[in-house]
Amino acid sequence: MNPLYRQMKTSVFERMSALAAEHGAVNLGQGFPDFGWPPEILDAAAEAVVGGSNQYPPSGGTMALRDAVAAHYKRQFGQQLTAEQVCVTSGATEALGAAILATVQAGDEVIILTPAYDSYAPTIRRAGAIPVEVPLQPPEWRIEREALERAVTPKTRAILFNNPQNPTGRLFGVEELEAVASVAREHDLIVISDEVWEHVVLDGRRFVPLATLDGMAERTIKVASAGKIFSLTGWKVGWIVAAPALATLVARAHQFLTFSTAPSLQAAVAFGLNDGDSWLQPMRDRVQRSRDLMAAALRAAGYAVLDAQATYFLCVDLKASGLAIDDEGFATEAVKRAGVAVVPLSAFAERDPPRHLVRLCFGKKDETIEAGVAAMAKAKDLLA
Ligand code: PMP
Ligand code: GLN
Repeated sequence: MNPLYRQMKTSVFERMSALAAEHGAVNLGQGFPDFGWPPEILDAAAEAVVGGSNQYPPSGGTMALRDAVAAHYKRQFGQQLTAEQVCVTSGATEALGAAILATVQAGDEVIILTPAYDSYAPTIRRAGAIPVEVPLQPPEWRIEREALERAVTPKTRAILFNNPQNPTGRLFGVEELEAVASVAREHDLIVISDEVWEHVVLDGRRFVPLATLDGMAERTIKVASAGKIFSLTGWKVGWIVAAPALATLVARAHQFLTFSTAPSLQAAVAFGLNDGDSWLQPMRDRVQRSRDLMAAALRAAGYAVLDAQATYFLCVDLKASGLAIDDEGFATEAVKRAGVAVVPLSAFAERDPPRHLVRLCFGKKDETIEAGVAAMAKAKDLLA
């Protein structure tokens, strides 16, 4: 059997959700909202199941969804895209797998900025390549161009970038995007740009797709997810967007991973995109209010909370909150003894990860947040 999987742990999200269920804890660990999906999209899915096709759709996605994705990005970001630049996948996780498989060969290096989403390093390794970590420093998590530049070697093939970033909640600024873009242009690298949180940006901030920077359209493979756009994480409908030559190769990798994705859900997502930009701002307002509620309640309970600019995640600094326990110890004790599941940040890096931060999901109903923060207050009393 493959030793990679013998050494690998179960994903931190799966682990914490299982512990939350086992101990009846409030689950602020795995990132999924417990409110607010557009009901008309659910109706569209139900109608498509009953009245539409339930057979294999085209491997790259239905034409209706590919057209809807292209039109959505024209409205949102002024991008001129065609359906042939879009390949629909079974969630962003599969899109990342297909993009990595299509990009790297054995021995290539791929730069990741840590803390990084947990699928990146194992997927890069399984594709035969080597993840090279560039650690960002809390609490600002700023991208420094020199640090990126130092990580480049003759074997570097790609940068796997994530903006807005999970788990830090950081929305990178235009200067930082330009740092990534200029390193990619100078060293002729592909950028796999995981932009699944593109619409969950708070406080009126503006998201800029990496492909819209000078010279980046031809070297960027964007990864996106309807799960985040419509708060329907279980649907697992995602897509990549790239220049036609790159998109064709990603589509070839995708055809032998899942081949295609449920046509009824594609129909509903196409309906939602065509109808749904009006849904985005209320979703952002709702998430922002939840962030403010959770951050204020955690601070009132004596926790030091880092700034969250995007996504539905915020980080708590255990050390600055007067707790000596490390993140993994806190997460284990909190779920078992205080009744709240959180995610330790050390799960998102291998090289010298921070061990004093935990991530909480605030994409939740008020009562979930209140119960979760009450349990966090209990954890602080127990573990101080
Ligand atoms: N990338 C990032 C940064 C994510 O946060 C997530 C899910 N939270 C994914 C990829 C996976 O998305 P999906 O559920 O569509 O596979
Ligand atoms: N992306 C989600 C998170 O960050 C989890 C997704 C998963 O469990 N695969 O919590």
